[in-house]
Amino acid sequence: MCGIVGYIGPKKALPILISSLERLEYRGYDSSGIACISEKGDRGVYTIKEQGKLGRLKSKLNGALLDGHVGIGHTRWATHGEPSERNAHPHQDCSKKFALVHNGIIENYAELKHELQRKGHHFRSETDTEVAVHLIEEYFERCRNVFEAFQKAVIRMQGFFAFVLTTSHDPDAIYVFKRSNPLVIGVGNGENFVASDAPAILSYTNRMIYLDDNEMARVTADRTEVFRLGEKNPRRKPVVRIKWNMRQAEKDGFPHFMLKEIHEQPQVVDTILKERLRGNRIFFDSISKKTEKRLSRISKIHLVSCGTAYHAGLVGKYMLSECARLPVDASVSSEFRYEDPVVDERDLVIFITQSGETADTLAALRAAKEKKAFTLAIVNVVGSTIAREADCVIYTHAGPEIGVASTKAYLAQLTVLALFALYLGKLRGKLSSGQMREYINWLLKLPRQIEETLRQDKAVKQCARKLYTKRNFLYLGRGYNFPNALEGALKLKEITYAHAHGYAAGEMKHGPIALIDSEQPVICISPAAKTYEKMISNIQEIEARKGIVVSVATVGDQTIKKLSRFLFLIPETKEMLSSILAVIPLQLFAYYVAVFNKRDVDQPRNLAKSVTVE
Ligand code: GLU
Repeated sequence: MCGIVGYIGPKKALPILISSLERLEYRGYDSSGIACISEKGDRGVYTIKEQGKLGRLKSKLNGALLDGHVGIGHTRWATHGEPSERNAHPHQDCSKKFALVHNGIIENYAELKHELQRKGHHFRSETDTEVAVHLIEEYFERCRNVFEAFQKAVIRMQGFFAFVLTTSHDPDAIYVFKRSNPLVIGVGNGENFVASDAPAILSYTNRMIYLDDNEMARVTADRTEVFRLGEKNPRRKPVVRIKWNMRQAEKDGFPHFMLKEIHEQPQVVDTILKERLRGNRIFFDSISKKTEKRLSRISKIHLVSCGTAYHAGLVGKYMLSECARLPVDASVSSEFRYEDPVVDERDLVIFITQSGETADTLAALRAAKEKKAFTLAIVNVVGSTIAREADCVIYTHAGPEIGVASTKAYLAQLTVLALFALYLGKLRGKLSSGQMREYINWLLKLPRQIEETLRQDKAVKQCARKLYTKRNFLYLGRGYNFPNALEGALKLKEITYAHAHGYAAGEMKHGPIALIDSEQPVICISPAAKTYEKMISNIQEIEARKGIVVSVATVGDQTIKKLSRFLFLIPETKEMLSSILAVIPLQLFAYYVAVFNKRDVDQPRNLAKSVTVE
């Protein structure tokens, strides 16, 4: 999920690697490291790593050993093992002849690690990555050919990854491999570069070779040979000339991080599903047998969180009630922590936070622990305080989120909550295998359906162009989409500074209906659901008062089409998963209203990404 760079050519590698890693600093990471092939004597591989920001690595550099012309670098965003110097990349094999950086997750690392340990390999870190470099060493011992060993190792690994490898067995080459995660080769004159993203190396070259999935390359100073996994002959790859400037490039061509992150959502959900689903089984590596036993005996669940994560908590409440058939409460952390919460050792308290540092949520966690409740954290940032202090943690692995208004982290939280609700439902014997299969089949459709929903972009933009001058918006939803009404309104407030209010649609007649006149936009989130007919009645009431109806509905819905001034469509899904799709047009709507109002989308006024104060 984070940064990878590599250099091979006539210049000293170290300054190029550092400046390339600096170009990726905007992404957020927890540690960094570099490996270079030494020019002197043994042409050995030398590494240096440090926890924290790049500045800390720089102040530790010992130029004498890292004097070579071939090197690789990495900024880590931990997924397996806490952020520490030991877990930072590059990782090395037992003989220290190989150094490897990795972006992604090796799903079957645990079984490979066992196998390698049995063969006598000694591991130094807790990462999944280290398995890869020992596996390469293992195959190299047998075939004495780096390319073949790398290829054989990659074939054994499941998951999604980009790798860059350097080795004193072939010191004038760098090896790379890509599956799912991005990797580009920058073509220079008598020198070549490697990076996870073009912006890292754009100041050196704008000529790029983009690797496709399952392609491997051997890169020397003046040559790049690309092979498809399992093929012997190299393939011809086009060299693409990039015309973006640096700022555009960091955002992958998107004008804002927020829009880029909205478009990353299919990938984020796909990653979570790939990591957590094994056939019809849901798998959480952090839930031990002992934890499972405790979870099977809980009598009540509380979800505690702030802001967007609170809305995820509300959706989680519906999901957990549906699947696990237990009483469930959702609270904002700043209330929970001060209300002397009634919880005890039979309760499960779930804390949801992107950063894992949210001050109110941390205080609420400590309050729940004091009362002996079992605590579970759903967190994006690995090794963060809340992740460390909770009894159990499930990571969302959404990658760093730069835009202040949360989008992909929310979708990741909803996906993890859906999986956890199903897991608990099965554990408590409330869901049959057939029911599980049905939910899972719908879950597996989500990445493609999110892509489909993103194609509403044009329709949403047109609507935003018509409505962006309005200063007051009302959002309505029921059931799974009531929290989305709150989330849609929050997104709009955060980045456009217009007033927006989210309501449970049934509450409209108890007050907000007074707002409705011909100037009032009302966003009605009405996908197919148990309460669909009730939403239709709400829409008719708004229509009757000449309000401007903007609807989110299921594709093919003719009734809502007739009743709405603007319509955004989502694909058919199971009601429990509808909030995952229905929020996407709301994110896009807030985004375009902000753009038309010329707001600072990624850094809205008065807001901070991680709220570490009360
Ligand atoms: N899974 C690897 C780790 O935890 C790589 C993380 C990354 O992509 O930065 O070290």
